[in-house]
Amino acid sequence: MVKPTGEFAIRVTFHGAVRTVTGSLHMVEAGDTRVYLDCGLFQGRRAEAADRNRSFPTAPGDLDAVILSHAHLDHCGNLPTLVAQGFRGPIYCTPATRDLAALVLRDSAKVQRQDAQVVNRHHRRQGLPAVEPLYDGRAAERAIARLTTVPYGRPFRVGSVTATFHEAGHILGSAMVLLEADGQRLGFTGDLGRPGTAIVRDPEVPPALDLLLIESTYGDREHAPRAEAEAHLAAVVRETVGRGGRVLIPAFALGRVQEVAYTLHLQREAGLIPAIAVYMDSPMATDATEIFRAHPECFDEEILAHLKRHDPFGFGALRYVRTPAESRALSASGEPCVVIATSGMAEAGRILSHLRDRIGDPRSTLLFVGYQAEHTLGRRLSDGAPEARIYGQPHKVAIRIERADAFSAHADRNELLAWAARVPRIGRAFCVHGDEAAAEALAGTLTSVGVPAEVPVAGQTV
Ligand SMILES: [Zn+2]
Repeated sequence: MVKPTGEFAIRVTFHGAVRTVTGSLHMVEAGDTRVYLDCGLFQGRRAEAADRNRSFPTAPGDLDAVILSHAHLDHCGNLPTLVAQGFRGPIYCTPATRDLAALVLRDSAKVQRQDAQVVNRHHRRQGLPAVEPLYDGRAAERAIARLTTVPYGRPFRVGSVTATFHEAGHILGSAMVLLEADGQRLGFTGDLGRPGTAIVRDPEVPPALDLLLIESTYGDREHAPRAEAEAHLAAVVRETVGRGGRVLIPAFALGRVQEVAYTLHLQREAGLIPAIAVYMDSPMATDATEIFRAHPECFDEEILAHLKRHDPFGFGALRYVRTPAESRALSASGEPCVVIATSGMAEAGRILSHLRDRIGDPRSTLLFVGYQAEHTLGRRLSDGAPEARIYGQPHKVAIRIERADAFSAHADRNELLAWAARVPRIGRAFCVHGDEAAAEALAGTLTSVGVPAEVPVAGQTV
C-alpha cells in the first residue's frame, strides 16, 4: 500500500527536469535539513532559460547542501548561479565527478560569455538591449571550490539525512543517490546508464526504497541493438564521404565523445569506413579524456583489460582540435572527414560554427548520437525543420539528418524496467528527467508491473 504523503519524513519538491530533460533540480527536506539533488542548467528557448536558471525553489542561503549525481551540464551547470545567489554549503559528489564538473563549469562560463557576445552583436544591429551571460568564470570557480568528494558506497551525513552514492553506470563518476532519514529511504537515479557499455560499470541496484525518483529520458522507447547502431554509423560515414561531404556529430564532451570516436577507430581499422580523419573539436573533450585516464577506479573490467593492450583514448586517426583558429581552419577546409564537436544538443559551442558552414551542404550529414531536448536546435533539426536559426541568422537546411540513439548513455524503456524490477521494494515512484510523453509512458508501465508511479508537475511537493 502507498502511504499517504503526510507520513513521509522526507519531503521532495520537484523543480527542474520535470516533464522535460534539462535543468535537473529536486529539493529534499527532512526535519530542518534542506538539500538539493542536482542543480542543472535549464536549456531551451533563450529568454525562458535565462529566467528559469535564475530562480530557485528556496533561498540559496537557506540550503544545507547540494548532492550532485554527475557532471553533465544539465545536472551541475547552474551551481555557479546558486553560489552567486548566496549558497554557502558543500556540494557533494564523487571524485571523478568533481574533476569533470570543474571542467564542465569552466567551459560553460566560457560558452555563455561567447554566446552572449554573438547574440549582442546581432542585438546591437537590431537596436535590441544587450543580454548578460548567466555567470562568468569567477562564479564558476566559486562553485568549484565547494565541490566536496565522497567515494561510492561511503555514507555521509547532511543534517538529519544520511546519503550514499552508488554507481549509476551513466558516465564516469555518475552516481545514484540514496537518502535516509527517520527510517525512510529515498533513491534518486540521476541519469541511469545502460548495462554493458564500453567504459563505465553497470548500474548498481539499491536496497528497498520508500520513494524513488527515476529518470525517464527513453521511458517510451527502445534503443536499436548496439551492433545495428554501429553498422548505421559506418554506413553514414561511408556514404557521406563518398559524396565528398563531411559528417558532423554533436556530442556531449563527457562519455559519448570517447565512445563514438573509439568505435570509428575500430571501424577504420576493420576497413568498414574509409581512412579519413576523425576530429575531436572540443578542448573540453580533450581535457575530459585526461580525466578519464585519471580515474580507472570507475572503469569496468573490459576497459581495464583493454588498458593493458593499448590506450583506448588515444589512437592514430583521432585529431584533437585545440584553438579557435584551428577550429575555423577545419570548418573552412573541404576535407571529407568526421567532426565531433560539442555541445550535444547543438545549443552552443563549436558545433554551431561547423553547422553554420555546412547546413546548406546536401553532401554532408549531421548525425545525432544523443538525446535532443525539446526547444533545442538539435531537436528542431532532428525533427526535420526546413529552416534553422544559428547565431540569430536564418539558414535553409540542406544537410542530411541522421540519428543513432543506441550510443545514448541512458537506459531505454526495457532497461529502466529491468533495473526497477531488481529493486526489492519501491513504495512510490516519480518519473523525472524525461519529456512528458516518455515520463508518462514509463509511469504507466511501472504502475502496470506493481510499482505505483506518477509524473510530478513542477513545484509539486510530496
Ligand atoms: Zn547525464
